[in-house]
Amino acid sequence: MRPIIAIASEEIKKPSLSAFPFSWYITNEAYIKAIDNAGGIPILLPPSTEAISMIKEVDGLLLQGGADVDPSSYKEERHACCGESSIEEDRFHIQLLIEAEKQNKPVLGICRGMQLINAAFGGTLYQDRKENPGFAEHLNKELYADGVHTISIRKDSFLAKALKEEHIKVNSLHHQMIKNLAPGFKVAAESCDGVIEAIERGNIWAVQWHPEAMLSVSDSMKSVFSAFLALC
Ligand code: MN
Repeated sequence: MRPIIAIASEEIKKPSLSAFPFSWYITNEAYIKAIDNAGGIPILLPPSTEAISMIKEVDGLLLQGGADVDPSSYKEERHACCGESSIEEDRFHIQLLIEAEKQNKPVLGICRGMQLINAAFGGTLYQDRKENPGFAEHLNKELYADGVHTISIRKDSFLAKALKEEHIKVNSLHHQMIKNLAPGFKVAAESCDGVIEAIERGNIWAVQWHPEAMLSVSDSMKSVFSAFLALC
């Protein structure tokens, strides 16, 4: 039986394509294909009464990209540069994460997912990259599938084992980044301007870039998902 991977849904409020005033709870095809092609079964997990208890029925949890993490989730005031956020969505995703941790189910965080993991375990975020003048631009939506900046991968990290590389180019579609790393976590990769691009603690792995989107043009990120699936 293939491992079942729950993808925490992202809420899209009042979708313009919809005739109804109701939210959509979504993921996108790149995450679905990435898990499917790595040998897993992706299922979407939207908020509902018993959603958290569904964690025991699955083999792993994927926290996907999405809106900014609300600053209250890391006990800071909102700055003007912070983007849209939802305290309710943060709370739902953090509950799923904590339940997965409690049950020792592997977690993969991507982009917002990494930032949320850091916030949930006591770390903080830069609310925009301009809060650190040393940081280069990290938001390039046009080259969503291409490597736009290099990262250095730490030896012995989950990424070193999965990718077997020290330096790779990754896409970059984020304007926030980790400020203080959550206690107990290790940096697994960083960019040359010092942005934390991957973190880990046990079987909780997270990356700041979008490996699932890079898979639409090359196989270079396949091993990130197959290594994660092997944990599950
Ligand atoms: Mn980046």
